Amino acid sequence: MSDVAVLGGGLAGLATALILAEMGYEVVVIDDDSVPPPTLGESLEFSAPGRLSELGLDLEELVEYGLGYPKSNVFVSLVGHSDFEIWPPGWFGRAPFFCSNKALHIDRAAVDQWLRTRAGAAGVLLLADRVTGLELAGRDRIVAALTRDGRRLESRWYVDATGHRARLVGRALSVGRRLEGEQRVAYFARLSVPPWIDATLLRFWPRARGRRTWGWIIPLNRDEVSVGICVPGDEVRAERARGVGGRSLFWRYVEDIPELARLDHREIPVRSTAYQAYSHEQASGTNWVLVGDAASLVDPVASSGVAAGLRGADTAARLIDGNIRGAAGGRRRQASHHHSAVRIVSTVNSVVDRVMLNPRVWRVVGGRLAIFAAATPMLIIHAWSNRFRLHRPWALRVHRALNASVRVLTSMVGWVTGRGPGRSRSQKPNRARSSGDARVVAAKGSPVQSSQTC
Ligand SMILES: Cc1cc2nc3c(=O)[nH]c(=O)nc-3n(C[C@H](O)[C@H](O)[C@H](O)COP(=O)(O)OP(=O)(O)OC[C@H]3O[C@@H](n4cnc5c(N)ncnc54)[C@H](O)[C@@H]3O)c2cc1C
Repeated sequence: MSDVAVLGGGLAGLATALILAEMGYEVVVIDDDSVPPPTLGESLEFSAPGRLSELGLDLEELVEYGLGYPKSNVFVSLVGHSDFEIWPPGWFGRAPFFCSNKALHIDRAAVDQWLRTRAGAAGVLLLADRVTGLELAGRDRIVAALTRDGRRLESRWYVDATGHRARLVGRALSVGRRLEGEQRVAYFARLSVPPWIDATLLRFWPRARGRRTWGWIIPLNRDEVSVGICVPGDEVRAERARGVGGRSLFWRYVEDIPELARLDHREIPVRSTAYQAYSHEQASGTNWVLVGDAASLVDPVASSGVAAGLRGADTAARLIDGNIRGAAGGRRRQASHHHSAVRIVSTVNSVVDRVMLNPRVWRVVGGRLAIFAAATPMLIIHAWSNRFRLHRPWALRVHRALNASVRVLTSMVGWVTGRGPGRSRSQKPNRARSSGDARVVAAKGSPVQSSQTC
């Protein structure tokens, strides 16, 4: 029996495992080797480099080893308007904020591989296998994880880091989920471009019925950029009904970007993934913790999924450590993990949905002001969550107050513009196979389908 079993070995799972192993715990990571390595989560916001540096990867080293590329010249481009730069203004680095305004883009597959190597060196046991079910006792305790290769792994604690498609523990324990925004499909590719593209671009296309497609261009190194577009689900369905596939849709939007208009794209593979922002109503239980996208999916337009995963890894490891040691303050640790992995994400999602991508707000104040009004609180919330760590009671209180005020403001905007609170959905329990007191719940949501080539 291990101390901690981490289900899923992406960035959030590996970071949690590494922190726990360095605390002296026996940790097993089970990661499905049949899934291609992630290529999303490349643009970091300003609190992420500090977190990576605590795991042993400094910003300068990331750039030197070719794992990262400095994020500079960040522009927002609104179709039909002039581009504007959205770099953190000078006040961001001064009192009372004192926040770093250095960030970068990373090669996600390479950074995950680096973390895997670090975790292995710290004594984490890495298993290439797929979790196919969980053995549960009562309503909230996990007894064992069952795998494709016939393993039955018992552990004192379980960390669900299986990402947004699998959400293994959340599903198995029927944890309620709040959905935000709308369903979208992301189409993305890596393109080789002339070295003159050294800017990060966020582009917004207004559409009929106020649905907004947005996209990104992120330089990954001197010759390659990551390009993606996020299209509302109903537009994708309508185009499909007209016989327009994902690949054509992707190129239709990308060719509209002047810098990329004349690329020869016949050989370039385009991948897609469907998503909708959400957060679980509970981030931990008797002997389980949710981290990364398995806890909550932050809207990708905020570029903060990686930071959220690393922040949650830190609070999850503290929660588990305190509980195994039987230290006082269990409720506080649970609250700080909940706030860090779920609450902040939920606030950011509501800012995105009710302000940044809200067509009525755009109509009244214009896209530029809507984006600025949404980006400012998001920057501050993230930067302060890194600077003032949430395990400190006073920092948690200040952070809760900040989040609450932002939520009140966005709710007011939501009510005025007809975008009420996000949908909350409690899931039906999975069909369980009974075996005495314990029951076995099969894992759903194959991660193999999480992104596909179109
Ligand atoms: C369109 C889009 C764009 C994005 N852009 C950005 C961005 O610019 N910046 C940013 O910071 N974030 C971004 N994100 C978010 C970011 O990609 C995620 O937050 C981050 O990758 C989450 O990491 P994770 O470790 O939680 O999950 P993942 O990286 O998805 O890892 C999950 C792991 O679990 C494994 N797994 C799943 N099921 C099982 C199972 N049954 N058994 C064993 N293993 C299993 C998988 O193999 C995988 O390795 C974006 C997301 C989307 C959808």
